[in-house]
Amino acid sequence: MSAPVKIQSARVSVLGAARSGIAVARLLKAQGASVFVSDRKPREEAGEQIQALEKLGVPFEFGAHSDRVFDADFIVISPGVPSNTNLVQHALKVGLNVCSEIEVASWFCRAPIVAITGSNGKTTTTSLTGRIFEKAGRKTVVAGNIGLPISDYVLDAGEDSVVVAEVSSFQLDNVSTFKPKTAVLLNITPDHLDRYENYQAYMDAKFKLFMNQTPDDFSIYNHDDGPVSKHCEGLPSKRLPFSVRDKLTNGAFVEDGKVYLAEDGKRIPLIDSKEIRIRGVHNLYNSIASALAARSMGVTIDVIADTLREFPGVEHRLEPVRELDGVKYVNDSKATNVDAVWYALGSFESPIILIAGGKDKGNDYSPLFELVKNKVRAIILIGQAAVKMQKEFSDKTKCIMAASMEDAVAKARREAVKGDVVLLSPACASFDMFQDYEHRGREFKRLVNEL
Ligand code: ADP
Repeated sequence: MSAPVKIQSARVSVLGAARSGIAVARLLKAQGASVFVSDRKPREEAGEQIQALEKLGVPFEFGAHSDRVFDADFIVISPGVPSNTNLVQHALKVGLNVCSEIEVASWFCRAPIVAITGSNGKTTTTSLTGRIFEKAGRKTVVAGNIGLPISDYVLDAGEDSVVVAEVSSFQLDNVSTFKPKTAVLLNITPDHLDRYENYQAYMDAKFKLFMNQTPDDFSIYNHDDGPVSKHCEGLPSKRLPFSVRDKLTNGAFVEDGKVYLAEDGKRIPLIDSKEIRIRGVHNLYNSIASALAARSMGVTIDVIADTLREFPGVEHRLEPVRELDGVKYVNDSKATNVDAVWYALGSFESPIILIAGGKDKGNDYSPLFELVKNKVRAIILIGQAAVKMQKEFSDKTKCIMAASMEDAVAKARREAVKGDVVLLSPACASFDMFQDYEHRGREFKRLVNEL
């Protein structure tokens, strides 16, 4: 896909100087554009970014966005900058094109893109899909929301490579030309309602993944997710739905514990679901979606099945940490919304001591009530959401307040008896107490390992 504007003579303002902002500034500058980077973050906190931009020779401002931002042919927005800010709204009002970093990167990408989105499971599915391509001997770039901006890698990816891109709804907010060869939509559940006007707006952002696809492209989507399948059934691309409930004639499905691919009405056995190394129904969905994505690019059944047997999962996602006195400790710090916790609780047969809480994102906790009542022996609550969660859960199970992660781990140990699982699965963002979910997960693991 080529750029809709002439980049060599373009003036571009990049909003946000985090990793993807700097990467796209570098990419555009290398293509001959005049780039300006603007970030609201105070100058004193931006030492690293300033160094990188000075090295690049790109002009920049920190502390506030000035009107210079509008002196451009188009604006590139980083996923961290909300699309509903006055600045972006003003840019759109004065007729400036605002696009996301993945959109710009895709203009320079010669390799086919497999783009993966969903409320949950993106990183797991992206990593697993990348692993399948690598095992198949394909030159593979795994990038995007997973922490490696696509802009840093596109120029290295030739026509014979494949780019597996994790794409968030924020990155999709501002796309108009993005056209993946294979698009995967895992699920949509309420999340980020603090940044979207309503749930429909969040769903619409996710659906943009498919909007430029043609009959030559593949759309892979969750048949069991009502709103997702309703939207995707009308797509013009080659549709490959997946289900763990219904038998399908095209796509992939599960029957009596066995996973089948369905290609033009023919069913091809892929693997026994018990052989898949990552556990839980949610990971069965992720595995099937990865299998279809790989299949859409011609990877053999054997390579896909072998990778599913081997892939150990990703750090901070239901990650086993330690067993102590017959109690298993599991780090699911990446569970930053209610749906992820729902699947986490469903993944264990044993009674659970749940550590949850953090920065609430307007969560509705009611989907967890039944599971908590039946499976959770106690909830240890941390962070800003602790009081709200205590109100919601105190008639479902024992609620215990904790002042810090250290306190939470100590209290969880005291509550747990042999055969229990101590599960950190917060349902909330981490920013009230930690730098990010990784910091939260590492702290939990350190404290557990010190017990
Ligand atoms: P994302 O990148 O979309 O945040 P991850 O793979 O990082 O997804 O997983 C985030 C959280 O969601 C983890 O707690 C994980 O156990 C859970 N999870 C993973 N896949 C799914 C899924 N398909 N449905 C629901 N929850 C999931």
